[in-house]
Amino acid sequence: RAKRRGRHQVCFYRESLTAGMSRADRLRNELPRAISRGEMYVVYQPIVDAKTGRLVSAEALVRWRHREWGELSPGEFLVIAEEARLMPAITRRVMEEAVSSLAAWRRSGFSLTLSLNISAQDCQLYADLVDDLSRLVAEHGVKPQDVEIELTEQSLMEHAAEDLVRALCQRGFRIALDDFGTGYASLAYLRRFEVTRIKIDRSYVARLFTNEYYKRLIRAVMALARELGLEVTAEGVETAEQEAFLRAIGVNRLQGFRYGRPVSAPALQEVAAGHTDPL
Ligand code: C2E
Ligand code: MG
Ligand code: MG
Ligand code: MG
Repeated sequence: RAKRRGRHQVCFYRESLTAGMSRADRLRNELPRAISRGEMYVVYQPIVDAKTGRLVSAEALVRWRHREWGELSPGEFLVIAEEARLMPAITRRVMEEAVSSLAAWRRSGFSLTLSLNISAQDCQLYADLVDDLSRLVAEHGVKPQDVEIELTEQSLMEHAAEDLVRALCQRGFRIALDDFGTGYASLAYLRRFEVTRIKIDRSYVARLFTNEYYKRLIRAVMALARELGLEVTAEGVETAEQEAFLRAIGVNRLQGFRYGRPVSAPALQEVAAGHTDPL
């Protein structure tokens, strides 16, 4: 046993010598320059109308094109970005690219809307967010009403979130509460913030058929939303069975691998072309 442990130690020692740094350490080191070099880019996931099945919107999701490791997902680098206080820099890039894509789709005749994710750190540190976003939509000739800002319950708990959300609403942007059901926010937040949509987290959709309880829970969320006049999107829809249930209880929009994975802006437009003829 001692021998086996010894061998593992040798292994670990040798690995740390050859690799020099762990992957996370390297990402931490490379992130600032990656942002300024334009290695961040945006992919778009289809969101469909639950009644008609038509593509109505797309969510912008950030990716990092790493020179050695290829496409990295936010799960791998957003925590590092937060530690380095670099979320605002990433958000600015994502906004620029995504608003430009929205404008291109609309110029081609597709009446899509765009969803953008904002992090808790943006609420704290990105003082010019509303000004930057307003300038971008004006420059690209799109309407703020066609841009929805997704905030998590965690973001809404930030001190600055209330002013930020109010300012966004005043400029005409829509507000969605993302990952609904996974945070610690109270229901009072739905009133205090001018949220017009909730997005049921995909962990609930995934559990729908594991236990009767989750069906009741999602029905209860729908009843709440109906009473409060909120629209509901379900995330992470993968199966026909999930879709049938969610449509039957009146969920407004569906998003998930069943309707498409996140793709480039031109590819998203091709998805749109397959759903509806350009005007
Ligand atoms: P989110 O905002 O809840 O985005 C949905 C995530 O669920 C995406 O992961 C998407 O690829 C994944 N997803 C969609 N449909 C399915 C499905 O049917 N099955 C499964 N298993 N997964 C599905 P992604 O792109 O890895 O993003 C993860 C999270 O990172 C996002 O969760 C969001 O919180 C954050 N994020 C992504 N892009 C940005 C960004 O530009 N800014 C900020 N602040 N956060 C971002
Ligand atoms: Mg989101
Ligand atoms: Mg979400
Ligand atoms: Mg989620």
